Amino acid sequence: DAPTTQPSRPGMPTLTPVLSDIWDAPRSWTLEAYRERGGYRALEEARSRKPEEIVDAVKASGLRGRGGAGFPTGLKWSFLPPPDGGPRYLVVNADESEPGTCKDIPLMLANPHALIEGSAITSYAIGCDHAFIYLRGEVVHVYRRLLAAVREAEAAGLLGGLRITVHAGAGAYICGEETALLDSLEGLRGQPRLKPPFPAVAGLYARPTVVNNVESIASVPSIVLGGPEWFTSMGTEKSAGFGLFSLSGHVTRPGQYEAPLGITLRELLDLAGGVRDGHELKFWTPGGSSTPILTDEHLDVPLDYESVAGAGSMLATRALQIFDETTSVVRAVARWTDFYAHESCGKCTPCREGTYWLKQILHRLEEGRGTAEDLDTLDEITANIAGRSFCAFGDAAVTPIQSGMKYFRSEFEAGTHTPARELFPYTASTVF
Ligand code: NAD
Repeated sequence: DAPTTQPSRPGMPTLTPVLSDIWDAPRSWTLEAYRERGGYRALEEARSRKPEEIVDAVKASGLRGRGGAGFPTGLKWSFLPPPDGGPRYLVVNADESEPGTCKDIPLMLANPHALIEGSAITSYAIGCDHAFIYLRGEVVHVYRRLLAAVREAEAAGLLGGLRITVHAGAGAYICGEETALLDSLEGLRGQPRLKPPFPAVAGLYARPTVVNNVESIASVPSIVLGGPEWFTSMGTEKSAGFGLFSLSGHVTRPGQYEAPLGITLRELLDLAGGVRDGHELKFWTPGGSSTPILTDEHLDVPLDYESVAGAGSMLATRALQIFDETTSVVRAVARWTDFYAHESCGKCTPCREGTYWLKQILHRLEEGRGTAEDLDTLDEITANIAGRSFCAFGDAAVTPIQSGMKYFRSEFEAGTHTPARELFPYTASTVF
């Protein structure tokens, strides 16, 4: 019963098209196309078992949260307190917004029923009768597609008593942070809550809530059908299974490559036709702009949680942004910092004020108007934000700068030409 996985071309690493298997089918997003490929069989199978058996299967599969942090999915489900007669919720985090991260949106567009089936199975497993899909507000076309798919599943009687609400946010990056997302869903301004309590204990409307990423939930039907052993036969011991690797930027064939965790960038680049013609890899991100950049030294690092951490970065969302030698590191980092400064929710001072200062300094460096002190100030401000902000946003914002300076400091130095006091009489210690 295991979903099929197939090698791509002889000599090439194996692709594992499970979530993306249906993407080339005509009208792949319809219930009819999904059922033709065995869709909703997993839900039927799940309902024939006890809910705790499903939780155990997901635990045994080793599936780790595909939203970035890699927290074990089955373990998260098992943190829910015992039923007390009140409601408990599933909230699917579909607020994918990070620069470079672009897997959930194509997944929901091409295969919305995998997410709906996964939501129905998860709801059954955790004992919830109302699930929410919180979607990034800008992607109206995805919103329409999800709504249509939920209606199709409802009309076909597939959801049983489960209600699925698709909610479009207003397009704030912070609303992808799970507790800000919950506040937003409750109708409040989206800002992170203090954790603990984790949502598993007190989430939506202060009730026990499982918050999972789109790709995590969409992977659940395949685990129910294929079984944990099938899932752990792919990937590495601690990073089991497959995932969508999104290649973007200076690459010949950008796109989604679904492959076992532990594949390397070198192998993925082989599949994607390499860095664009006539150019060489300069730097790349393993998991979007929030992960420290890596360089051509790291082409053979297995893309699993442990190995990428060992190389000084994070696997996170497997958003591989490829930059060739024509890219200015300072400019790329400055663009990411513009994003973080714009999206900081303002709740805590290091992030709100710090990203603003970082942006100013990086713009000076980009324009060659920086000072030697600017580099010290960047070091000082980034060190004062990292680990000192309310949520992971602050760490994410300083990550490109710190890693950019680690590998390409000379490019930052090249932006410093004017004596400090003439341009900017204040130092970081005046600010903080
Ligand atoms: P986290 O490690 O704090 O939490 C991960 C998940 O595990 C959360 O759901 C949390 O509730 C749960 N959890 C952790 N400890 C728990 C405990 N003791 N009890 C119960 N539940 C527990 O990470 P985070 O702040 O939620 O997410 C950070 C990640 O988000 C980063 O790795 C980044 O890659 C990713 N990210 C993704 C996007 C995107 O667009 N997909 C955007 C920004 C960041």
